[in-house]
Amino acid sequence: SRGLSESDEAVEQAAQEEFHRQNTQIELIASENIVSKAVMQAQGTVLTNKYAEGYPGRRYYGGCEFVDKAEALAIERAKQLFGCEYVNVQPHSGAQANGAVFMALLQPGDTILGMSLDAGGHLTHGARPAQSGKWFNAVQYGVSQETQRIDYDAVEALAVEVQPKLIIAGGSAIPREIDFARFRQIADKVGAYLMVDMAHIAGLVATGAHPSPMSHAHVVTTTTHKTLRGPRGGMILSNDLELGKKFNSAVFPGLQGGPLMHVIAAKAVAFGEALQPEFKTYIQQVVDNARALASVMVERGCDIVTGGTDTHLMLVDLRPKGLKGNQVEEALERAGITCNKNGIPFDPEKPMVTSGIRLGTPAGTTRGFGEEEFRLIGHLISDVLDGLVANPEGDATVEANVKAQVEALCLRFPLYN
Ligand code: PLP
Repeated sequence: SRGLSESDEAVEQAAQEEFHRQNTQIELIASENIVSKAVMQAQGTVLTNKYAEGYPGRRYYGGCEFVDKAEALAIERAKQLFGCEYVNVQPHSGAQANGAVFMALLQPGDTILGMSLDAGGHLTHGARPAQSGKWFNAVQYGVSQETQRIDYDAVEALAVEVQPKLIIAGGSAIPREIDFARFRQIADKVGAYLMVDMAHIAGLVATGAHPSPMSHAHVVTTTTHKTLRGPRGGMILSNDLELGKKFNSAVFPGLQGGPLMHVIAAKAVAFGEALQPEFKTYIQQVVDNARALASVMVERGCDIVTGGTDTHLMLVDLRPKGLKGNQVEEALERAGITCNKNGIPFDPEKPMVTSGIRLGTPAGTTRGFGEEEFRLIGHLISDVLDGLVANPEGDATVEANVKAQVEALCLRFPLYN
């Protein structure tokens, strides 16, 4: 049969244009990465044709002999990578993984305690517009106004007050190490389950660059496509096999139908890659690059929330320059640098405006950027910011000049070469 380029020019063109965009701009969205050719190829296999409701060896469909192999490989490799007893690799996304844990452990109306979106949490941790915020009594903790870090004593006091059934640690914009042991202490004190959502830091946890939540949490959820550098998807991990049975039932038949076997195969490939020594080197570079970028942003007059980063991401506070997150996101995009506006703790601006941007190094590091390149990127960003300070519409000459430098840098580090 005909391939994509002959059978559907319009979709092929969209994919080509997206490849060109990725190849010629600098990707600083902290939740994105660039998968290997092998991961991409696994997703483009005939495994996409197969229905496999159930779990390896216990399926509701015939013909599952070979997809069972792929899923078993993904499970075994994830167990090895994170040192745990139970893994479910079927959640279609991070949100599905979290939803399945809630379904397994909670009843509608139960109290949950998660980090608020504006402090760095995720929508699925009890934000008002999300299912987790609508179907549960979702109470939210934030960060200390003074340190911009999690105030564990305040979390404890809130937990004692509201007696949650589940406490959630983790988030989407947390630049500092999280103390999972302290979270477990709090959970034990009030008899709550502790769920750690390590979506952002999974790659760091896999290589030891961030402490592992596995021995502290009752259950850990993650996405597979951020620092872990796999296909888009979710996963649930635990050391409690009895809870594991509940999570399995919650994923299927509770929340999902057939698993995406081509994606599960790609997860297996990515976990295999993450087990190699090169992945540890990669993650160390991601963290070193984030520190290098943060230090240039400070040198050039911005603040960094908490004063720095321990991870792959940072929140840049634009207020010292009198700029807003939305205008900066747009100006940087004009200059070939992609990031997202992001609220900072206690942000006086609305969520569609914000006082900050979130910057992350996973994707740039994958294409080969080191600290020298990230220092240059910090200066390029700062040039655009200073152009905006002088002219709120942006300085077209500066932006064009930065864009030319961005393209030259990207040309030296091509994607999938
Ligand atoms: N949990 C955290 C901490 C996240 O940052 C994200 C995504 O940004 C998710 C869950 C949701 O993952 P997905 O977009 O795959 O549903």
